[in-house]
Amino acid sequence: MRRVSVFGATGSIGQNTLDLIGRDPATYRVVALTGGRNVAQLAADAVRLGAEVAVVADEALLPDLRAALAGSGVEAGAGRNALLEAADRPADWVMSAIVGAAGLEPGLRALRQGATLALANKESMVCAGRLMLREAAAHGGRLLPVDSEHSAVFQALIGEDIAAVERVIITASGGAFRDWPLDRLDEATPEQAATHPNWAMGQRITIDSASMFNKALELIETREFFGLDPAMIETVVHPESMIHAMVGFNDGALMAHVGPPDMRHAIGFALHWPERRTLPVERLDLVKLGQLTFRPACEVRWPALRLAREVMDAGGLSGAVFNAAKEVALDAFIDGRIKFTRMAGVVEDVLTRVSSQPGLIDDEFDLDMVVEADHVARVAAGDIIDSST
Ligand code: NAD
Ligand code: MG
Repeated sequence: MRRVSVFGATGSIGQNTLDLIGRDPATYRVVALTGGRNVAQLAADAVRLGAEVAVVADEALLPDLRAALAGSGVEAGAGRNALLEAADRPADWVMSAIVGAAGLEPGLRALRQGATLALANKESMVCAGRLMLREAAAHGGRLLPVDSEHSAVFQALIGEDIAAVERVIITASGGAFRDWPLDRLDEATPEQAATHPNWAMGQRITIDSASMFNKALELIETREFFGLDPAMIETVVHPESMIHAMVGFNDGALMAHVGPPDMRHAIGFALHWPERRTLPVERLDLVKLGQLTFRPACEVRWPALRLAREVMDAGGLSGAVFNAAKEVALDAFIDGRIKFTRMAGVVEDVLTRVSSQPGLIDDEFDLDMVVEADHVARVAAGDIIDSST
């Protein structure tokens, strides 16, 4: 039996992962399931799938989790240390689907015990791509992309020589406001931003799709994952979200990965890799689809894309700074403290303020340095937001 753990099991990616695992219970032994605060969901899934341990991130919820698991034989844990302890438990395949930089360390722990890490948590690659790859190589762990675009690139590269790649095109739906007049963006509310035209995802990534901070993170993720020169990475708006990415080769061929917007494809691909197995996703009817369209990704509408270029060029820990500033700006927008259009300004101000920090652009860094850069950026973002509201 394959030992599997799912970090962020109660979220959108986590639930899709459990859907696939739950269809084939004889194949999998569930080691750890973790969640943030949704005790009822976590406990129900842990009992149903016979998990060894269930961990909730919020320490105060331990009594609730214990009560929900009473008599089931599933161990209960709570808090950051319990989460890391669960990540240390040997598993063959681990889904990293916590949202934000909080997902970095559990994923690193899984790599250190030699697991195959299916990486939905793009923030890990943005904050510490080099470290992730180094830890995987040092401990016999393996990283597989789960972000749909990166899974698409990974699949287009099977059997290919990376030296023959000329460019990678990451598609973007354009999110909730792609057709809004620019002068209305100032009034955009969190509720409006959290409505995605094509994908059903967690609240934070959906808002990040509207601002294209999600695409910005994905461009950086592409650079880190595949070791590409930033100049080779492009983005194009593709409102139908059917092509997830394209890889262009030196003979002019452009390989596109086409499929319906259902994350169970990318999750299932990572679960069964290196095999392909039947997955419960819709088969596309191309005639019904009729046409696929493309538009330029405008850096005036989506300044996050311009910032991503700066971060890719700077390298080092600037990804960790960028991500942390973005997380704080996003919280401030969700809480109604700043406007939608102010988020990019906050992140840009943090990048400017923190860029003189010693060691920021060194490519050799450890986890402590990432945590420090994340912390400095969060403090700076908080100051900038407080002084402008
Ligand atoms: P989500 O908000 O639906 O779920 C996040 C999960 O993380 C939940 O289980 C939540 O309880 C847990 N969590 C939140 N904060 C935590 C903390 N501080 N400590 C521990 N656990 C915490 O998010 P999602 O949409 O499933 O996205 C998860 C990750 O996958 C993100 O990194 C996102 O960018 C990435 N991703 C998501 C999709 C998608 O379709 N949803 C697609 C591509 C990539
Ligand atoms: Mg994606």
